[in-house]
Amino acid sequence: MNKRQIIEQYEEFVLPTYSRYDLVIVKGKGSKVWDSEGKEYLDFFPGWAVSGIGHCHIDVVKALKQQLDKIIHVPNNYYNELQGRLAQKLIEKSFPGKVFFCNSGAESVEAVIKLARKYGHKQGRYKIITMEGSFHGRTMGALSATGQDKYKKGFGPLGEGFQVVAFNDLSSLKEKIDDETIAILLELIQGEGGINIVDENYLSEIREICDRNDILLIFDEIQTGMGRTGKLFAYQNYNIIPDAMTLAKSLGAGVPVGALVVGEKYQDVLQSGDHASTFGGNPLVCVACVETLNIIDRDNLLENAKEMGEYFIEKLKKFKQEFNFIRQIRGKGLMLAIELKIEGSTIVDRCLQRGLLINCTQNNILRLLPAMNITKDEVDKGLDVLYGVLKKVK
Ligand SMILES: *Cc1c(COP(=O)(O)O)cnc(C)c1O
Repeated sequence: MNKRQIIEQYEEFVLPTYSRYDLVIVKGKGSKVWDSEGKEYLDFFPGWAVSGIGHCHIDVVKALKQQLDKIIHVPNNYYNELQGRLAQKLIEKSFPGKVFFCNSGAESVEAVIKLARKYGHKQGRYKIITMEGSFHGRTMGALSATGQDKYKKGFGPLGEGFQVVAFNDLSSLKEKIDDETIAILLELIQGEGGINIVDENYLSEIREICDRNDILLIFDEIQTGMGRTGKLFAYQNYNIIPDAMTLAKSLGAGVPVGALVVGEKYQDVLQSGDHASTFGGNPLVCVACVETLNIIDRDNLLENAKEMGEYFIEKLKKFKQEFNFIRQIRGKGLMLAIELKIEGSTIVDRCLQRGLLINCTQNNILRLLPAMNITKDEVDKGLDVLYGVLKKVK
């Protein structure tokens, strides 16, 4: 099928829930992808943060192929070595506790909502506080938790007991806490919200409030997790440990997976029959996740994310000096934003035409989430393209 036919097939048979660029991707390798006409693109937004170690990492592909010859799916009423091994690895790299596996980010948020609600149930505590500008997914529970009205419009009634407070504003948070509060849920760097970074003092105050009141502190690390910020999990930049954390996106290097990591104190709240996911933690996805964690260690990708992130910021700050329509450059590791005083969509379009994939969120924030194994050469090459496009805006 040619490009036109592929696009027409979507138009006829796929629900129109996404706006798509006029691009058919057929192949990917590292930070590069190729389209249906053989044109090469540099990908500064690989898989919407899913392809954190690049597209089709050779070792992940190999591990998946080997696993395909053994067994693809093992239901959760039996055991398979890989799920346990992955859980152990995640716990060893985060905090003591246990893991629940599911298939997406939103599902891991759903799982943690149920965990918090069950924990609070006997005491009549159920309220969950979340942040303005947050994004937690599109299922009804995760959507109820999300602090952006535009995603909720037309879908009510949503789940009850969620309260949104201003991000990084302690007094707004303190005002909302009462005898019925069971959890506080936040992203340490709001991704979809535009790379808004949590304030360190604010975070440690929240930790104290949660400790004093037996409130669960939950970090949504679906986008920040798996090394992007220069630490395996973003909370490790702050040394403030959550009671539970959600993971997905780049956890499986491209295979659909979600995980909820639960600290010791709450690890026995959900019991047999309380929650489940048919596909959750099957050997095919687990082998990809285990391999991803191995690769991050073996190839020192945390270090590379940190170094390349600093390099990006340095170069982007020069862009800011030159272009007065750039309001701010910010980010941590390879989670980067160029906030504009103008709309960003034409910049994204023009970058695409010139072979660079980036994202724009909140209308005016260019978001870059490059793979952790991106090379300096690729950074230079992509930023040259971006520079050329920004120069045209002038
Ligand atoms: C993407 C994202 C989600 C939702 O994940 P899905 O896999 O799309 O359900 C939730 N929280 C954050 C922080 C995200 O970035």
